[in-house]
Amino acid sequence: MDYVIPAPPVAAVPVRGGGLFPVRRIFCVGRNYAAHAREMGHDPDRDPPFFFTKPADAILTGGADMPYPPATKDLHHEVELVVAIGLGGANIPAADAASHIWGYGVGLDMTRRDVQGEAKKLGRPWDMGKGFDHSAPIGELVRAAELGKYETGHVLLNVNGSERQSGDIADMIWSVPEVISILSGLVRLEPGDLIFTGTPEGVAAVKPGDVLEGLISGLPPLRTKIAG
Ligand code: MN
Repeated sequence: MDYVIPAPPVAAVPVRGGGLFPVRRIFCVGRNYAAHAREMGHDPDRDPPFFFTKPADAILTGGADMPYPPATKDLHHEVELVVAIGLGGANIPAADAASHIWGYGVGLDMTRRDVQGEAKKLGRPWDMGKGFDHSAPIGELVRAAELGKYETGHVLLNVNGSERQSGDIADMIWSVPEVISILSGLVRLEPGDLIFTGTPEGVAAVKPGDVLEGLISGLPPLRTKIAG
């Protein structure tokens, strides 16, 4: 049977050295660094990991400008390590998680903080605070095999050349293998899934004209400018 409207294009992330990684779904971990959980008013010791999603076509690649989204006056940056899943599975033990990882990249979980805050207050879903158009700028992916054991690495976000966020992958409350294990107990992970693994402290607002640079050790830098 033919599609009755044109099939949507496949969202894809460029890979360092060539090729494209097709994106199936985007999962994000909330509050995965203790200092960020505290700055958002939560106790990092008591909260288990939780997840939200963005549409696959929320990715923004190639260093393109990010349009300032509608319906917000408080657009925040959250720089995050992104894990790209190459091998699917359900109920993946943490000890086996590495075999499911295709690669890594630098991502921005851009957030309409005022919209998210209103949703929190009213007990409503976060989707419109988190999953809006172009809300997931992402840099080139790197194959896990090229990075070796990847458990530490500086995570940095600069805005107009000034440091805003700084942390280390090693400071995650829930490690990448634990995140994969827990998430795969909630949904079956599939090739093409991306996992944004949470952000260190220092989240703050940006405005049109700002240039954001996300840097994580071993990965290509992510650069985007907020367009008006
Ligand atoms: Mn986030």
